[in-house]
Amino acid sequence: SYNLYAQFHAAFGSHLSDTAIETDDDRRWTFGDLHGQSAQMANWLQSLGLKPGDRVMVQVEKSVPALVFYLACLRAGVVYVPLNTAYQSAELAYFMENAEPSVFVADPSKADSLRELTTRIGVPHLVTLGADGQGSLIEATRQLPTEHAIFEATQNDLAAILYTSGTTGRSKGAQLTHNNLASNALTLHKLWGWKPGDVLVHALPIFHVHGLFVACHCALLNASKMLWMGKFTPRQMLAWLPQATVFMGVPTLYVRLLQEAALTPESCAHMRLFISGSAPLLTETFREWQDRTGHTILERYGMSETAMITSNPYRAEDGPRLGGTVGRPLPGVELRCMSEQGQPCPTGDIGGIEVRGPNVFPGYWRMPEANAKEFTADGWFKTGDVGHINAEGYVTIVGRSKDLIITGGYNVYPAEVEGYINDLPGVAESAVIGCPHADFGEGVVAVVVAQAGAKLDAAELTQAIKSQIAGFKVPKHLFIVDELPRNVMGKVQKKALRETYAKVFA
Ligand code: ATP
Ligand code: MG
Repeated sequence: SYNLYAQFHAAFGSHLSDTAIETDDDRRWTFGDLHGQSAQMANWLQSLGLKPGDRVMVQVEKSVPALVFYLACLRAGVVYVPLNTAYQSAELAYFMENAEPSVFVADPSKADSLRELTTRIGVPHLVTLGADGQGSLIEATRQLPTEHAIFEATQNDLAAILYTSGTTGRSKGAQLTHNNLASNALTLHKLWGWKPGDVLVHALPIFHVHGLFVACHCALLNASKMLWMGKFTPRQMLAWLPQATVFMGVPTLYVRLLQEAALTPESCAHMRLFISGSAPLLTETFREWQDRTGHTILERYGMSETAMITSNPYRAEDGPRLGGTVGRPLPGVELRCMSEQGQPCPTGDIGGIEVRGPNVFPGYWRMPEANAKEFTADGWFKTGDVGHINAEGYVTIVGRSKDLIITGGYNVYPAEVEGYINDLPGVAESAVIGCPHADFGEGVVAVVVAQAGAKLDAAELTQAIKSQIAGFKVPKHLFIVDELPRNVMGKVQKKALRETYAKVFA
């Protein structure tokens, strides 16, 4: 069967009494618990009359029962649609109208205010699940049978619809099949050398590809224990490091850990692998991590529409892990950079990144126009990211095509300019954007954050950059700010920055 849950069960079915998850509030689930409780929830979904392909929408705080509910949906063939907990009523209305879920699972504190919305839009069932793992969902399912015959998925059956983060525009629902997710999970499990005894620190939200798919799928396929944090804290992380072997984080988590004096080679001695993704890892962070822990972070690249696409090597014999790059395409995944004329770029030239493979989604949910535009006739997906490939096959991302700046007819790649700015003394990080400019179309603007304790001078910084790069790339305005706007996944919100600085050239 193509059912993703069948793959998990094949892996952990002989470890049912082993610990699957330990939480930061000292609770414990065995694989048998996950298996039995997901059966109860799958039975409940079917008792409501849900059929394979029907959607359930979930906006809840991170909890183990929320993960179990995801597994239940896989088992029943019901399409799981998780939502960022930050979304409010206007956004929720859009998602509900778009996905037409049969069930909505909400945090208990929000259920009352949501009832009006679910009634108006016609979502038949509203149930609750809290951060403590309690709620009407649990009440409804705890007496049900712990046996369930899993849905025999075919190659095209959907497992989930994942709304994109909305970094560049309105979120789009990426449809993901059981096969998309299973093929990706099996590839990562093998590539990253998962082995018996591995223990994963799970510190990410579970409404996103990174925390839900990459992290949980690898652990489940390995029958590995997860040490499960409701919300990331450096303190909990440091407490768990001596018994963990694998960590997956977004770059901001690494930055926060580096602020801890207790982060040392000794504290990381038990660890096998640190993985980063979801947003660019600054080479500064990459180097500092090496100095402080002796470990080289493995950076990988992916997105909601494709799960993972590239990874730096795990094994030394496959090459070094190169900071500032996202590594090579995964086995079975094809990646190319295309010129504006639609030709494959020569080695090292910058182009639009396109991908093809068993991991690539069949299209956006109910968006025929986007699907017609974002896929080529021969089945390549246009990621919207821009980058280049070196002679060894390593991919470097230089930005998103929507963030690309065209000033006076010249292309400026934000990541390149950001790299130069970040290397200047006293700079912690930066974001380079294009703002409307009467003469040039767009003018380059930089927004810069100082390192703790450092005092920056905008004119001096601009002068320092001028001596290094072509004049058209040099920011015409440079602002020093306390922090960059970020979403929970640590992605810098350039759209918001462009709005803030929309009138600097007016
Ligand atoms: P939207 O598509 O709605 O604008 P989004 O692209 O941010 O939002 P996601 O699917 O969550 O939504 O994020 C995928 C994007 O994250 C990628 O297209 C890429 O731009 C970025 N990304 C992921 N991993 C990395 C990485 N290692 N380095 C740089 N960028 C990365
Ligand atoms: Mg995107």
